Amino acid sequence: MSKDYYATLGVQKGASEEEIKKAFRSLAKKWHPDTNPDNKKVAEEKFKEISEAYEVLSDPQKRKQYDQTGSVNFGEGRSDFSWQDFSHYNDFSDIFEQVFRGFGGGDFFSGFNRQNDPQLDLLTEISISMSEAYHGTVKSIKYRRTVPCEVCNGTGSKDGKVTTCPTCNGTGQQRVVQGQGFFRMVSVTTCRTCNGKGTVAKEECKACHGTGNKSIVENIDVSIPKGAYDGLRLRVKGKGQTHNNKTGDLYVSIQVHSAPNFRRSEDNLVTDMEISFPDAALGVENEIDVFGKKVTVKVPAGTQPMDLVRVRGEGFQNVNTGRNGDLVIRIRIAVPKKLTSAQKSLLEQFREESGKKKGWL
Ligand SMILES: [Zn+2]
Ligand SMILES: [Zn+2]
Repeated sequence: MSKDYYATLGVQKGASEEEIKKAFRSLAKKWHPDTNPDNKKVAEEKFKEISEAYEVLSDPQKRKQYDQTGSVNFGEGRSDFSWQDFSHYNDFSDIFEQVFRGFGGGDFFSGFNRQNDPQLDLLTEISISMSEAYHGTVKSIKYRRTVPCEVCNGTGSKDGKVTTCPTCNGTGQQRVVQGQGFFRMVSVTTCRTCNGKGTVAKEECKACHGTGNKSIVENIDVSIPKGAYDGLRLRVKGKGQTHNNKTGDLYVSIQVHSAPNFRRSEDNLVTDMEISFPDAALGVENEIDVFGKKVTVKVPAGTQPMDLVRVRGEGFQNVNTGRNGDLVIRIRIAVPKKLTSAQKSLLEQFREESGKKKGWL
């Protein structure tokens, strides 16, 4: 027989995300095992049921699967905490983590052994071109995060008034006793009622339903420094999630696309250029386009194939030291495949002049 998750949360089948969240919040409070010390066994069961229902109905994908088939495959559990999961983060998700960690093990409280700090830092990735890495750039990024509710200043309290948490008596911690007989294990965890604050709102803030947080779409400009390299991680302070008035950071991981003619070697910018045999022999001054910047390259007389010509300071800027690497050009020499008769006689003359007959040098 399949479970009726909607009935469990007491909502209609077409209920909105907000309605589901609200229903869960009030039921979770009512049935939290810590707030039902006299009826703990029943409360644990109830809490487990409503958490499972919420786990499914709050996740659009799982909800769709459930609506279509009447059941849900929970898969690998909640270990694959990804960027997408972060965006759904709310102050109850750490409860789920704990509840669902306990699933399968049979012991509801097994998940409570771990003191878990909510994940406040966020990670995102941006791709930039090599030209943008060379010159530095500014990128806009848009993502979802929680911020303190401005109605209650993050307190979760309607009038700012708080009272000592009845569950933990203000310590913010809870002792959980496990086991029977002489084998008992006591673990100290963050109080679930007040989330470790030690206080609870006298009257809940209506805007945030007492969580002290709200979810917003953040739109920020991130400046990518000159010389940013593939895998560089930038930290944007205070742009992560908020929980209990603590805010994490946003980490931006940089991915640099490859460019057709250039590659990076440490802070040097490396490229291949082809010149003619007379230019190699006589020396030449050429211009090269480095991501829109004209750079003059002096190829000295007598340059050999595969010789490296350096232009100091025209490579990538080092993001830490601010010093520039070099532009390094590997010289290839083109040998003409077709010659005019004039060219041919000039080259024969040249060979004669060099005192060489046909053959090895
Ligand atoms: Zn408490
Ligand atoms: Zn509020």
